[in-house]
Amino acid sequence: MAFKPANNIQDLQYFGEFGGVNPSISDSSTYTFLSAKTMFDTFEGNADGCYLYSRHSSPSNLYLGEALAAMEGTETATVTASGMGAITPVIMQLCGAGDHVVSSRTIYGGTYAFLKNFAPKFNIETSFVDITKLDVVEAAITKNTKILYCESVSNPLLEVADIIGLAKIAKKYNLKLVVDNTFSPLSISPAKLGADIVVHSLTKFINGSSDTVAGVICGTQEFIDDLRNVNDGACMLLGSTMDSLRSASVLKNLRTLHIRMQQHSQNAMYLAKRFEKDGLKTVYPGLKSHPSHELFKSMMYDKYGFGGMLTIDVGSIEKANELMEMMQAKNLGYLAVSLGFYKTLFSAPGSSTSSEIPDNEREAMGLSDGLIRFSIGLDADIERTYDMMRRCMETLNILETKTSELV
Ligand code: PLP
Repeated sequence: MAFKPANNIQDLQYFGEFGGVNPSISDSSTYTFLSAKTMFDTFEGNADGCYLYSRHSSPSNLYLGEALAAMEGTETATVTASGMGAITPVIMQLCGAGDHVVSSRTIYGGTYAFLKNFAPKFNIETSFVDITKLDVVEAAITKNTKILYCESVSNPLLEVADIIGLAKIAKKYNLKLVVDNTFSPLSISPAKLGADIVVHSLTKFINGSSDTVAGVICGTQEFIDDLRNVNDGACMLLGSTMDSLRSASVLKNLRTLHIRMQQHSQNAMYLAKRFEKDGLKTVYPGLKSHPSHELFKSMMYDKYGFGGMLTIDVGSIEKANELMEMMQAKNLGYLAVSLGFYKTLFSAPGSSTSSEIPDNEREAMGLSDGLIRFSIGLDADIERTYDMMRRCMETLNILETKTSELV
């Protein structure tokens, strides 16, 4: 059967032991054994279906992991306590002292800070490149490179990675292509396009209710087993394990992801088109003006659209702050970082989520101070939202033409 990410989630069947329509939550950190031999075999990883200790694995975490693996089309997956708790063990597992990473320069600020400031303590160096230029990516590879790292749609600039092209380069040089798919769940399936490992911050669209931080690593059985190895597995030993109660609640939210993504994308497309028409500098992969619009189209499942993230540039941080404060006062969303909530969230990445990136590098990558990143919510009446946002922009003289002058 053709790979269809949302169907793959729908088709998974889990019953609770007592007939509940949701699997029972494993509310235990440790598990009993009827024989000492089975306990030993479980510790060694040789007893399927047995659990020893919840940092190693737990039924609830396995259920969520399998659902996310089905969504991404990978052999399996392991869930983690945050998105960073997924990204950092992948890098530490694949790289040792002396190794090298080629990474997109427009990535989430925390990932950037990890690669730039933390990984060098272990003698792991990173070259940050313009990921949209495959020749530049290839030229940055050295004999020590182990990983090509990117986000399918980047935070915050919404650059789109050519996953098929990058996968070819990764294969040629025997590297692992690691793709953070946090911004485009369901729309893009990186593993199906050739990525070796797919990570997510579940904190965002996948969980969708802004009530937890969580992450996942999707990959081959061999790689996930390596991460969980009791002797040298980065997930096992760094210990960013998700709590079972949380994985049960993320699993429940995952089931409505396909409906939510359609609404986020539809609303974002509407606003992006209107903002662009109003003369605002608008970046949204669904706009024909986006440099990678055709590339995104060639990789996406149409049904889920171009995602819920868009940016506008209002010229200065002062204007950006004024606009965000006014929009929040009018209840058009929240001045907050993060994304994927039912309410629209907006922030200025230059002074928040990307502030780890030095000024000169932010400038080089085109991350200006007046940039506002929007995570568009599930608003039932997006036309009303637009009208109200437009009035805020008129009041602050961000828009030149007033509504009253429009024909
Ligand atoms: N990846 C992306 C693209 C993100 O936007 C974020 C957080 O904002 C992360 C990873 C880190 O995830 P978490 O905050 O769940 O650790």
